[in-house]
Amino acid sequence: MFPEMRRKAQQLPDEQVRELLEKGSAGVLSLAGPEGYPYGVPLSYLYREGKLYFHSAVQGAKVEALKQGDKASFCVIAADQVDPEKFTTHYASVIAFGRVRVLEDPEQIQLAMEALGRKYSPGYEKEARVEICQSAGHFLVLEMEIEHLTGKKAK
Ligand SMILES: Cc1cc2nc3c(=O)[nH]c(=O)nc-3n(C[C@H](O)[C@H](O)[C@H](O)COP(=O)(O)OP(=O)(O)OC[C@H]3O[C@@H](n4cnc5c(N)ncnc54)[C@H](O)[C@@H]3O)c2cc1C
Repeated sequence: MFPEMRRKAQQLPDEQVRELLEKGSAGVLSLAGPEGYPYGVPLSYLYREGKLYFHSAVQGAKVEALKQGDKASFCVIAADQVDPEKFTTHYASVIAFGRVRVLEDPEQIQLAMEALGRKYSPGYEKEARVEICQSAGHFLVLEMEIEHLTGKKAK
């Protein structure tokens, strides 16, 4: 169902793809937006065991888009080094396809938020728990179950 990569030599092995996802700090979540316009929105994220997690406000365009459909893709640019003399860019990137749902289970929400905290604010675990507790009810956690994952590196 998902298109194969044409330039196989540039396709990264699964382990490297997972490493890039773990190291990356932001990507673009693409959803079916209004009137057929795709909505790509930059987000911080957490990758864990075949799933991506996002922190979101309870309202807004992405939440509205999600109500129209749960199919999504998420793209992370892991490297982007322009080489002017060679008329090329040395890049590495990842694209994940899957379905997104809003987490409902408080325990899952807490675990995902704490893990996001550890990724983005290492050493501030205690403060993160306070922040999570204080903002309870004012955020959503989105979970994307990855169905298809590829990584590509220009060689
Ligand atoms: C590196 C990075 C990391 C981010 N991490 C998070 C995160 O973890 N969680 C989170 O909720 N938000 C994050 N944001 C902000 C995010 O991109 C959105 O602005 C925010 O989530 C609101 O999205 P929304 O769909 O509710 O937009 P709304 O506030 O409903 O606004 C809708 C409209 O505003 C415009 N718009 C919205 N966001 C952007 C944008 N980033 N740039 C340009 N135009 C925009 C678009 O035209 C869109 O149609 C991050 C942004 C960046 C750049």
